[in-house]
Amino acid sequence: MSIIRRIIVKASESRWLRERAPRLGFVRGAAARFMPGEKPEDALAAARTIAESGISTLLTQLGENIAERAEAEAVVSHYLDLIERIRDANLPTEVSVKLTQLGLDLDREFCFANLTALIERSRAATAAAEKTLWIDMEQSVYVDATLELYARARKTNRNVGVCVQAYLRRTERDVEALVSMGAAVRLVKGAYSEPPEIAFPKKEDVDENYFRLAQMLLSPKARSAGVRAAMATHDGKLIAQLTEWAAAHGIAKNQIEFAMLFGIQRAEQLRLAREGYHSGVLISYGSFWFPWFMRRLAERPANVWFLVRNLFSR
Ligand SMILES: Cc1cc2nc3c(=O)[nH]c(=O)nc-3n(C[C@H](O)[C@H](O)[C@H](O)COP(=O)(O)OP(=O)(O)OC[C@H]3O[C@@H](n4cnc5c(N)ncnc54)[C@H](O)[C@@H]3O)c2cc1C
Repeated sequence: MSIIRRIIVKASESRWLRERAPRLGFVRGAAARFMPGEKPEDALAAARTIAESGISTLLTQLGENIAERAEAEAVVSHYLDLIERIRDANLPTEVSVKLTQLGLDLDREFCFANLTALIERSRAATAAAEKTLWIDMEQSVYVDATLELYARARKTNRNVGVCVQAYLRRTERDVEALVSMGAAVRLVKGAYSEPPEIAFPKKEDVDENYFRLAQMLLSPKARSAGVRAAMATHDGKLIAQLTEWAAAHGIAKNQIEFAMLFGIQRAEQLRLAREGYHSGVLISYGSFWFPWFMRRLAERPANVWFLVRNLFSR
């Protein structure tokens, strides 16, 4: 990770900045590029528009590391209601949550009960209407707990998916276990700052690992185990490499799922959908957007120019 990226990710963790920066108009203006609004209605309206192009969506309310049980309970009731609203509107939309939003820092069993409630609400009367409840992957200290709760939830529910990060050296082993379980897996590069002992520091190594993990998730073994794999990346080179590899191995386009973030690479999202791949977009909303917005800047330091442009256009 470059020094600039590291500084931006560190800044995303600053409580001082988190309390002050979101009040600044130019910061709010720049963040608006990556989210349709702060309210669930904004996210649902965006999901409806995006669905018209044959693209599915994934909604997440921004928030992490909550410190009170009551806050986690409020998050759960928010999502229970959201899942109902998605069903009522008949949208091709699923929900993704962070376990630290559901109380993982407070009490693992409390978090598991919250997670189970959301998975059960996402289940529907017919298999066709069943929605997967996705679990985001957070910093490396949470990986063991996240995968443990995922495996427990998966024993009784098929409609639960988990994200894994290609920058972590351990992920190949984790993917092997997930493939044996026939899991639903979202593969990302990873958005946090991690030490080189546990994460590949060089982008080439992360990209290479991503490709290797994607091949494992699309292998005949994975497909016969019922794995659902979502390749969450905006990396055009990797997408080309993967689609070429899949075509050479006889994997049909409609068996491959890509996912990107709202506001990023819109033309590519449309192209993939047009060509017959599953194309999805993650829409984030909510008022707690500062750390998440900073991670988006870190992914592409050129995005800092949006911030600067917003400052001077006021
Ligand atoms: C659907 C989805 C879910 C995710 N869930 C998680 C999660 O649970 N845990 C987690 O750690 N991370 C998550 N991420 C973030 C992920 O880890 C990466 O940080 C992010 O996707 C950028 O990596 P990349 O694969 O796009 O490749 P990169 O090599 O970072 O980027 C490739 C190219 O994509 C474009 N691009 C990438 N990011 C941006 C951006 N912010 N703004 C503008 N252009 C950009 C640029 O053109 C860049 O050159 C998720 C990402 C997606 C798409």
